[in-house]
Amino acid sequence: MSKTFLRNERSEDMGTSKIFEYSLVKGDHKVWKIRLTSVSSDPTQSLMNPHLSQYGKMCFETKSTGYVCPVCNLDIDEYGYCGCGAGSS
Ligand SMILES: [Zn+2]
Repeated sequence: MSKTFLRNERSEDMGTSKIFEYSLVKGDHKVWKIRLTSVSSDPTQSLMNPHLSQYGKMCFETKSTGYVCPVCNLDIDEYGYCGCGAGSS
């Protein structure tokens, strides 16, 4: 069985955000590629945590508004998002 691993191909500084490119390599073939833009400078965390790459902080660091969504009963956060998305509209 050939080894599968994730390789950071490229990191490009775009000023306020960064572009990271990753390849999933199996043996000596690239089987999958992802390109992501992140406001965080940590490529691995940005890949594993879309919340960090989008907002620059982890989901648990996001402040709550104190409002609860009437649909899903979850806190609506400082960006206006809840569990189901109804709170953002
Ligand atoms: Zn909701």
